[in-house]
Amino acid sequence: MLIDAHVHLDKYGDLLDDALREIERENIFTIATAMDVPSYQDLQEIARRSALVLPTFGIHPRRAPQYVDRLRELGQYIEMSPAIGEIGLDFHWVKNSSEYPAQLKVLEYFFAAAREQTKIVNLHTKGGEKPILELLERYDVARPIIHWYSGPLDILRALVQFGAYFTVGVEVLYSETIQTIAREIPDRLLLTETDNPGGLKWLKGIVGMPSEIKKVIDQLARIRASTPESISRMIQANFLKLIEADPWLRQVRTLLSQP
Ligand SMILES: [Zn+2]
Repeated sequence: MLIDAHVHLDKYGDLLDDALREIERENIFTIATAMDVPSYQDLQEIARRSALVLPTFGIHPRRAPQYVDRLRELGQYIEMSPAIGEIGLDFHWVKNSSEYPAQLKVLEYFFAAAREQTKIVNLHTKGGEKPILELLERYDVARPIIHWYSGPLDILRALVQFGAYFTVGVEVLYSETIQTIAREIPDRLLLTETDNPGGLKWLKGIVGMPSEIKKVIDQLARIRASTPESISRMIQANFLKLIEADPWLRQVRTLLSQP
């Protein structure tokens, strides 16, 4: 089974049926991360159509200002969600620094809940790598997945020390910086993602379909002197390890333990 640990399935629009068919055909376990409340509600609907889709609730840092004064409303969604994401900080694409305190406040609210409810978190770290590391340590959030890491190598190494997992995605096909990062991540912490449909669109102007994950795996095999088969076996084993004692993801374990 392939693992796509960060996807925005609710953004596929007219291509959703095709995307779900591809997920089933290629057997891709898919973590469908939300941007905000309506996005999570859409994902819950979509997930009824495939056992391979796990919808997770989060407030994306871009949406933080709209939710910072309504944190209590978010509690019910966090509780019903088996894992958390997309959450995080964006001090790079979000240029307006007056939004940063809201991002921090929302992130800390989610970290406190993740710790209390022992849930995995799916993190956006662009430009906020260092404060995220500090907050992970302060809140003792045990099992973070860092999505599309592109920050400094010293913070990457500190996050590895912390035990964070990393999803490498479509940019590894095009960028030397991302290839360097992908080589630096230890075998045991490596995961894969597409961040589609927007991931590839942002890079190449074309809508990314779920099977792009196979190209990511092929490229990881190339740059890590391995084979696609052993990379995908390793990723599946890593993901199983990440969720091995997770009380919220028992069904996912059963699904992924099938040959
Ligand atoms: Zn994303």
